[in-house]
Amino acid sequence: MARRRRRRKELPPLVEARRDAMLARVKSESKDRPGTYRLISEDGEVLYVGKSKGVRTRLLTHFRAEYPHDKSARMVAEASSVAWEYEPSEFAACLTELRLIKRWRPRYNVMMKRDARHYAFIRLTAGLAPKLQVVRGAHGNDAATYFGPFHGALQLGEALRELNDALGLRDCALDTRMHYADQVELPVATARTPGCIRYEIGRCLGPCVAATTASQYDERVHLAREFIAGRHDAPIVALRTAMEESSERLDFERAASLRDKVARLESLQEQFARLRFAVETLSFTYNVSGTNGDDRCYVIRRGRVRHECKAPETPAERTQLDAKVAEAFSTSSRETGAVPSHEVDELLLLASWFRGHPKEMERTTPHSAAALTRSA
Ligand code: SF4
Repeated sequence: MARRRRRRKELPPLVEARRDAMLARVKSESKDRPGTYRLISEDGEVLYVGKSKGVRTRLLTHFRAEYPHDKSARMVAEASSVAWEYEPSEFAACLTELRLIKRWRPRYNVMMKRDARHYAFIRLTAGLAPKLQVVRGAHGNDAATYFGPFHGALQLGEALRELNDALGLRDCALDTRMHYADQVELPVATARTPGCIRYEIGRCLGPCVAATTASQYDERVHLAREFIAGRHDAPIVALRTAMEESSERLDFERAASLRDKVARLESLQEQFARLRFAVETLSFTYNVSGTNGDDRCYVIRRGRVRHECKAPETPAERTQLDAKVAEAFSTSSRETGAVPSHEVDELLLLASWFRGHPKEMERTTPHSAAALTRSA
């Protein structure tokens, strides 16, 4: 079947003149080297940040795009200037692009869309009665705590639902009003029948209806954090102890309910382990050859760049780098499993980079905190 041709719309003359001036500058001044570029509006707003291993080629593709159908062409039409900076390598360009996007939040950038299919995180919200939810990336620099990344958002969602049920944690809408039994600042003290089946069937402690205290709920949240972080035994041991105490008090109904929770958690152990991305494998020094001999060295721990510098050439530079490696691997920001929200995007970027460029692993020298402690 013949494809219908899209009708190309003419640009207004002034916009076209501006576009042609930018294009002429790109053609005469830019080079095909790794780097980042940005399109800027007349009032100084950064509209778009991009990166490429060949800045010139990439910029020219934006100018060839068809107006108004292509996003590229619309961005170019809105821009009044274009700027670019070179980076020593494509990897360096990726990191700089991420940092610039975080700084300017350009309208035309869709953050981390490329990784959404592969990785997911568990987000623990801040505030009263925290909630665990599966997300594809960080919600800006929020106060929430993130765990991950994990493979397969769908399976992760199912496992998390089970975990919430086993530990009695809420899974309702974020704006649901919460009210602990020991919350003194609100005058409403009597419990009411909730409109939620999870409380009625014993799958939620019911922080919305004053059915639990802050400390009881927080204790369950703590167990969930331990479980998600991979320290499976702590929540199971805690629930088993509570089960035995209930039996001794002849509270057999509660003991039976706790026994079921222990069984569910045990079956979830394997499920979470299977879905968890081994972020510890992204702990090494990564040497990257740069253009014109500008080689760089990145100290990466748990998927985040802790230090970057020129690749050492002298014994003194090597000693300095060794000190930075030791520092990066000895900090107590260690294996809590939690990832601060501002580091989530970088972790996704690095996971995606090494997934897409597996041969780059040959340029890495692995480190582990334990090994460095032993050699110190
Ligand atoms: S019982 Fe209340 S807190 Fe728990 S999930 Fe239902 S609405 Fe949310």
